[in-house]
Amino acid sequence: MLNYDLHCHSTVSDGLLPPAELVARAAGRDVKVLALTDHDDISGLAEAATAAAQHGIQLINGVEISVSWRSHTLHILGLHIDPTNEDLLAGLREIRKGRSTRAQLMAQSLAKSGIAGALEGSYRYAANPEIIGRTHFARFLVEHGYSKDVRSVFKNYLIKGKPGYIAHQWAALEDAVKWIVGSSGVAVLAHPGRYTSGRKAMGKPTLRELLREFYDLGGRGIEVVSGSHTPEQYAEFARYAREFNLFASCGSDFHGPGESYRDLGHLPDFPLDCVPVWQAWE
Ligand code: AMP
Ligand code: MN
Ligand code: MN
Ligand code: MN
Repeated sequence: MLNYDLHCHSTVSDGLLPPAELVARAAGRDVKVLALTDHDDISGLAEAATAAAQHGIQLINGVEISVSWRSHTLHILGLHIDPTNEDLLAGLREIRKGRSTRAQLMAQSLAKSGIAGALEGSYRYAANPEIIGRTHFARFLVEHGYSKDVRSVFKNYLIKGKPGYIAHQWAALEDAVKWIVGSSGVAVLAHPGRYTSGRKAMGKPTLRELLREFYDLGGRGIEVVSGSHTPEQYAEFARYAREFNLFASCGSDFHGPGESYRDLGHLPDFPLDCVPVWQAWE
């Protein structure tokens, strides 16, 4: 078992626990090294660092950046970043502006399908209004009985082709990697098993093109062990890590009790031959 968990969310983005509570929970579950990786915002890191010192665990400064690449939305983790880096901060601020515009369009689209009050209702779930996102809409829709849980609400409302889905232009891959590397962090492709085109998984040739481009831009890691991967996918993405000379990362992608596939920590070991991403900074 690994005692590293390098991917999770707090109330600064779409998690359910404030940063200090998240760190306390991680410590209680034997995590020794935790990266807080909120979507497009790093304002939870200071609180998390204080809590980590109290609990005797190491906090890695992290972020999960939303990216548009070809027709895909990708998530790029920045691990061991410098949270004072101006270019990184400016880039993240720009992404956050786009989130509020998208939220208005999502609410308008839901209103057309007869769901009123989604904008105000969803903002009530966003402790940090700058990171309003689909998860907050999902919680609102569940609260009002449109679906039984957050997972099914995505299937029926919040993905491509459904009434609450609005296509959105996120950051360019090149910029996201540049901000991360420029702030002395390691850029890691998050949960590669989750990317789809339509209903199908991203094809292998496309994934290969992505990994080559990502590496050429300065990306150095790939999430192998992820809360949203199956054990077969651990092996599959370990092979890609070797082929493309990428560090392997591991993270639960925990969002909150009852809402995630996996709780913090207790992640299985890497498949053989993976080079753990922490070798990049330890
Ligand atoms: P956004 O960045 O606002 O488009 O929201 C993306 C977030 O929605 C992800 O980080 C997940 O937390 C959540 N999400 C995406 N797809 C699903 C799904 N199928 N089931 C549950 N949560 C999802
Ligand atoms: Mn999320
Ligand atoms: Mn993600
Ligand atoms: Mn995540």
